[in-house]
Amino acid sequence: LRLRKTMVMRCCRVYRHYQQHNFSTQPAERLAGKVAIITGAASGIGKATAAEFINHGAKVILADVQRALGKAIADELGPCATFVACDVTQESDVATAVDLAVAKHGRLDVMHNNAGIAGPLAFDFAEIDLAEFDRTMAVNVRSVVAGIKHAARVMVPRRAGCILCTASISGVMAGVAPHAYTVSKTAVLGAARSAAAELSKHGIRVNCISPHALPTPFGVNSLRELLPGLDVQRATEMIEGTGELAGTKCEAADIAKAAVFLASDEAKYISGHNLVVDGAFTTYKSLKFPNHD
Ligand code: NAD
Repeated sequence: LRLRKTMVMRCCRVYRHYQQHNFSTQPAERLAGKVAIITGAASGIGKATAAEFINHGAKVILADVQRALGKAIADELGPCATFVACDVTQESDVATAVDLAVAKHGRLDVMHNNAGIAGPLAFDFAEIDLAEFDRTMAVNVRSVVAGIKHAARVMVPRRAGCILCTASISGVMAGVAPHAYTVSKTAVLGAARSAAAELSKHGIRVNCISPHALPTPFGVNSLRELLPGLDVQRATEMIEGTGELAGTKCEAADIAKAAVFLASDEAKYISGHNLVVDGAFTTYKSLKFPNHD
């Protein structure tokens, strides 16, 4: 009996040790030593992804047009984070961010083209302002092309690298977002596929992540513009209410974790893929936007 008790106590000690030290079948730091750039990292998905990348051992350049906020977020994230002012519609800014990664850390392993805007909230083609459409395409699509171009410039010689692009469920299904946004995110999927086809011969992977709606400033502000008078809390609840997976909701951390997986060596043979993070929404649902039949 005493022997059995000793064995049980020993097993408990081993189990506690295992839990305390977070041993698992996966490495604790999935991005150890990797160098990443994340555009649009001052807020929402990009900010959550920067934090998750750093938790997994990466060094991250946060590139965003919001200078004060981006700098504050980088300071908060600590010495593995660096902020660079970057307007992704300016090719030279994107090139500068890539050059900074190489100058500071010696290379670029992950380019995450994430910055984006909702664009004009027009649901009728007859009402689209084409200047606003062009602006949406510049921020959401041209930026991705610039990101791929300059990442490839430094990744091809190393014959390694990973490019991620934030698309959306509206790139997969029509009718869930305004036209300009839907067109732009569909184009992001096309840009990533085209790049994956070319860059595979250089050992570079290119993938998209397509999130469901989640209440970042992007989503909340758009909804409040559509429904004047709506407060932030109600807008947040409405956005979260569009999810269909029972018992949970779509959070920025869910998208960040998908990005960690795709950026890690665990995804070493995944390229040209669109990882939809939507709780099965696009498999069967159609969302009606407020103020829209
Ligand atoms: P967010 O507003 O919280 O963050 C977007 C960030 O992009 C901001 O920090 C902003 O300053 C930055 N940005 C905007 N224009 C820029 C420019 N020209 N240059 C550099 N940075 C710029 O929104 P989010 O929800 O985190 O959006 C991130 C990405 O996720 C976007 O591409 C968006 O289209 C996509 N997305 C969002 C949702 C959603 O519901 N929130 C759903 C699907 C896809």
